[in-house]
Amino acid sequence: MDKAELTQFIKSEALRLGFDICGTAKAEAVPDDVIRLYNQWIAQEYHGTMQYLQRNCEKRFDPTLLVEGCKSIVVVALNYYPSHPVEGMASYAIGNDYHKIVKDKLYTLLNNINAVHPVKGRAFCDSAPVLERHWAVKAGIGWIGNNRQLIIPHKGSYFFLGELMIDAELEYDEPFTANHCGKCRKCIDNCPTGALSDDGFDARKCLSYLTIEYRGELPENIGKKMENRFYGCDCCLKACPHNRFSTPNNTPEFKPSDELLKMDVSKWQNLTREQYDTLFAKSAVERCGYEQLMRNISAIKEEE
Ligand code: SF4
Ligand code: SF4
Repeated sequence: MDKAELTQFIKSEALRLGFDICGTAKAEAVPDDVIRLYNQWIAQEYHGTMQYLQRNCEKRFDPTLLVEGCKSIVVVALNYYPSHPVEGMASYAIGNDYHKIVKDKLYTLLNNINAVHPVKGRAFCDSAPVLERHWAVKAGIGWIGNNRQLIIPHKGSYFFLGELMIDAELEYDEPFTANHCGKCRKCIDNCPTGALSDDGFDARKCLSYLTIEYRGELPENIGKKMENRFYGCDCCLKACPHNRFSTPNNTPEFKPSDELLKMDVSKWQNLTREQYDTLFAKSAVERCGYEQLMRNISAIKEEE
């Protein structure tokens, strides 16, 4: 297969496997301005306790150091917009663990590529030092909005991103150069904590960070800002006009279980460890831990 045929095969196979979009980018060191902005964000300590974001920066800034022999990055996006939201939980977290679902699909893609053309590669989904949104822009998939999410034209931003880094050369997409945020600032205005501002994104104030990543005591009075949100926050997604294009996903593993859909305020407040284990056995929420989830639920309860 020549480069053009291989690229076409990979893209059509990615769509056949259920990904919504697939783009390709040459694997190379990221530009200095991207590195500068990232380092500035870290120096401002906006990443809070997420120390892993400070580590492995050489690999983060150059995928050829992360995956030996890597020449190309196949970037995919998978819709997770829910048909059945679960009150209080971020939409991305209500189904099975997306890391596994996206990576399994990418390894199937790698196997299928190998059936027609020998390649070596590794798959990632929010699981390694990879500047995912940068590569999605470079692969022509969308732009990074003021809410710091990747926005796909006419599709929105309820998408997981994944990358397959392979040792074959491909034909590459034109990077996405437009920014369709324009004068809009709805995500900034609708952020309940001021985590999004004209100064950038301060993760330490973000409800997603506080309820999922942060292990310590929650800030005093945060319950008022959380309202009913005890796991993550979709406010900046809901506010974005580009998400009017969102349509429910058709990945069966992202559908919340009947047990999760039957939960109500009282059931959450009285959740036992056993119920937690059953509800979240296959979910990314399992990584948050029972105690932390109950910490979040208590913070809301105190404000009632
Ligand atoms: S997830 Fe919520 S708290 Fe975090 S930046 Fe978006 S709107 Fe603000
Ligand atoms: S809400 Fe407006 S400013 Fe924010 S990401 Fe969406 S389009 Fe951009």
